[in-house]
Amino acid sequence: MSTVAVVGAGTMGNGIAHVFADAGWETTLIDVAPDALERALATIKKNIDRLIKKGAKSTEQGAAAIGRIQTSTSFDTVKAADFVVEAATENPAIKFKVFHDLDRLAPADTILASNTSSISITAIAAQTRRPDRVIGMHFMNPVPVMTLVEIVRGLQTSDEVTSKVVEVTRQLGKTPVEVNDAPGFVSNRVLMPMINEAIFCVQDGVATPEGVDQVMKLGMNHPLGPLALADLIGLDVCLSIMQVLQDGLGEDKYRPAPLLKKMVAAGRLGRKSGQGFYAYRD
Ligand code: NAD
Repeated sequence: MSTVAVVGAGTMGNGIAHVFADAGWETTLIDVAPDALERALATIKKNIDRLIKKGAKSTEQGAAAIGRIQTSTSFDTVKAADFVVEAATENPAIKFKVFHDLDRLAPADTILASNTSSISITAIAAQTRRPDRVIGMHFMNPVPVMTLVEIVRGLQTSDEVTSKVVEVTRQLGKTPVEVNDAPGFVSNRVLMPMINEAIFCVQDGVATPEGVDQVMKLGMNHPLGPLALADLIGLDVCLSIMQVLQDGLGEDKYRPAPLLKKMVAAGRLGRKSGQGFYAYRD
């Protein structure tokens, strides 16, 4: 396998395209929004430039990686892909439609991986005629920096596909951890209720966002406080994950904080909109 299509060019898609291109894969980044593709390419270039300046990469290696990335607004390009990673908006209806289309267009033996944070891989796989070749490949944000990839096996994912995706993950210089399909998998089942509780603390006036983040950074040795992390992830993504946990596990402890809902309704999505629990200039 040497040709990958990355579907969705937002926060995660640009990082995923970056690491595949860096590892020598011919990479096509696909998005329905042309401006998302432009922004993604600019971000990849900026991140690669930073690595060159730090001496982590030569100018030639950086240029070669960027040269391996194409962009497209058409799904037709997946016809040439032998591996697909979907990183579109965290919304079941969008994912289901995307996988239906990918299954129709991609070669029959192409593996279709989803970077979903919480949506059932089994349910996504059921939109296709190849549920054995559908798997979760859950990268962490920011992708070029974080080493973990949670490999999520759907009910019908084959052993062969799981082994191949574990191998691809290692080839990207990342560390795979295999988990089974359940709402939020391991990462977000543990992380997101903590972020949600931090939001309740702000909502209930227990502390300011800065106060909550300082407690968790200085007291628990977290590199980033939960609210700064929520801004990095995207508050809309956090809300979607809490809704999946609440629907899938049916317990009141997973109810999204009303303040989280309010901020998303106001368009305060965190870093990507310039304002979340903190303000961002660029
Ligand atoms: P985002 O909102 O930054 O980007 C989503 C992109 O998908 C947008 O550019 C949008 O135009 C595009 N898109 C929407 N519908 C599409 C379609 N039908 N075809 C092609 N592109 C489409 O979202 P994100 O934060 O990058 O999240 C993407 C996926 O990664 C989600 O499943 C999310 O749960 C997961 N994820 C996010 C994080 C995080 O920290 N943000 C971490 C791990 C996993």
